[in-house]
Amino acid sequence: MSLSDLGIDSSATILMVDDESINMEVIQIFLQDAGYSNFILEDQSTRAMRTLIESKPDVVLLDLNMPEVSGIDILTEIRNDQALKHLPVLILTSATDADTKMKALELGATDFLAKPVDASELALRLRNTLAAKAYQDQLANYDALTGLPNRDLFVDRVETALKLAARTDCALAVLNIKISRFSEVKDTLGQSAGDAVMKEISLRLSDCVRDSDSMTSEGEESSQRLARVGSDEFMLLLPSMRRTEDAALVAERLISSLSATIKLETSEVAIGSSVGIAAFPNDGDDASVLFRNAASAASFAEQSQGINYQFYSEEFNQKSQRRLQVEGQLRRALERNEFTLNYQPKVYVETGKMYGVEALIRWNNEELGFVSPVEFIPIAENAGLIPAIGEWVLREACQQQRQWQLAGFADINVAINVSVQQFHEAGLPELIGSIINESGADTSRLTLEVTESVLAGDVEESIRVLKELKALGPKLSIDDFGTGYSSLSYLKQFPIDELKIDRSFIIDVETDHRDEAIVSTIIFLAHALGLKTVAEGIEEEGQLRVLRDKKCDVYQGYYYAKPMLAADLEPLLIKDAQLAASA
Ligand code: C2E
Ligand code: MG
Ligand code: MG
Repeated sequence: MSLSDLGIDSSATILMVDDESINMEVIQIFLQDAGYSNFILEDQSTRAMRTLIESKPDVVLLDLNMPEVSGIDILTEIRNDQALKHLPVLILTSATDADTKMKALELGATDFLAKPVDASELALRLRNTLAAKAYQDQLANYDALTGLPNRDLFVDRVETALKLAARTDCALAVLNIKISRFSEVKDTLGQSAGDAVMKEISLRLSDCVRDSDSMTSEGEESSQRLARVGSDEFMLLLPSMRRTEDAALVAERLISSLSATIKLETSEVAIGSSVGIAAFPNDGDDASVLFRNAASAASFAEQSQGINYQFYSEEFNQKSQRRLQVEGQLRRALERNEFTLNYQPKVYVETGKMYGVEALIRWNNEELGFVSPVEFIPIAENAGLIPAIGEWVLREACQQQRQWQLAGFADINVAINVSVQQFHEAGLPELIGSIINESGADTSRLTLEVTESVLAGDVEESIRVLKELKALGPKLSIDDFGTGYSSLSYLKQFPIDELKIDRSFIIDVETDHRDEAIVSTIIFLAHALGLKTVAEGIEEEGQLRVLRDKKCDVYQGYYYAKPMLAADLEPLLIKDAQLAASA
């Protein structure tokens, strides 16, 4: 049986440390016969340690008795060195007394061989030692599930490639591949389905890398340039590229290979991916900087709609810095009482009487000033801060509704926005139920607004949550309708009361026939399903006229009033009540 059949690399580097060169030469001949070819002979044992570190041997054959330095000392030094402590050391000694053996073993010798050395026994011991090391290396350097290199090994590879690239003036790129929705797959389908999906992902990526090789470097084994570096994160090294743009082609291939659904025994799952690219020398000249930049580019792609891959750039570095800053401040915003709620009237198109208000959060931070919810709500979602902020909004808005009830404005409906992440938070219905109870709010005068994108995901799950929310008594409204790709055929199954037509269709509704057609259709559809329509963002008389023609029920917009503090709204409420009384 050959060495490679045993999983042993015959190119293993064997370092021999012995004061007598003749000994080493004899051993070298024995080992050459056994198939090995890489040797380093060291007769100046005082220099051994330095040679050791520089030459990165796979095994050391160490003579125990040398005149200048004791083999035991070298062994001790090896075991105390962080980088070398797992290196296999085979002791060669003519001292066969039990004490010496014991001592060497205690100090971590891997095995023993008596001098004069027997050729076949030497080959056998060495083979076993290297087989054990190969197994250890496999465990330490490869991901057990996919068999791909892990982060540690990948770092090594990139560092080596960087040195070469610097010498040869070549470009090199590191790609970070983030898999989205993997943890959801694992949570819903279980660990073993998750494992199967992950294996399939790694196979597809490996295939892609192999196919892409013609465009990049030759020689090196392609699968070795791909690594699994986190539970849902991979990295790919593209060494010696001709042009950095080639990395974009590779990224496109990777993404497209992962876009096809993955078939499991009983189900089918869709995952997504985002790729970030950082190149040497432009985006960094050491592995850790390149990794960080590739990862931040991938996060950027992940969080930007419609972008699948992204080159690292200073510009979005600034954007992500801003994001980090916002996130940092956001973490303390609640305890510092930096949030307030504004309320914007929702008004009947027909009568001009107020139907209710929508609660809209406002954040004024001492360092950043006023930050729009359009900016900070998505950041809060990503940072896991939405449950706490959402709870604050619910409590505040319910208390306000109670106040208005007590002040005699009992009819006013208060709408509260529920974010996607909040919607999927376990226990949301219970939480809302208890907040309503505590506040004494009238649930029939509450509306929960969820964006249409909530409904685009797992439909069964959305229906279940919506039903639980509905059972608490509030009205349910679909916000930003027309932008979220929800399936119309499901719409009738959702227990909803209201569709809010997204502002983007309203802006040009007077002049653009396509927008007008969309708005007409939404209103028609809503009425056919027994739902009320609310037009968002009415700023002009003309827009309102079009909506009146089309029998839209309610509108909201600067034309009637901008969002404002509850106290500022009171005069409007009083006027509105008088209007109703005189009608
Ligand atoms: P949305 O729920 O669709 O809210 C309507 C947005 O349109 C509000 O922006 C409102 O100020 C704005 N708007 C109303 N009328 C007009 C108009 O005539 N012209 C223009 N140009 N804009 C108008 P705002 O307050 O900046 O909120 C933006 C988004 O942030 C909201 O969109 C909502 O998705 C989210 N948001 C706001 N407050 C909360 C909250 O308490 N919780 C959650 N989860 N999201 C919130
Ligand atoms: Mg809303
Ligand atoms: Mg909206």
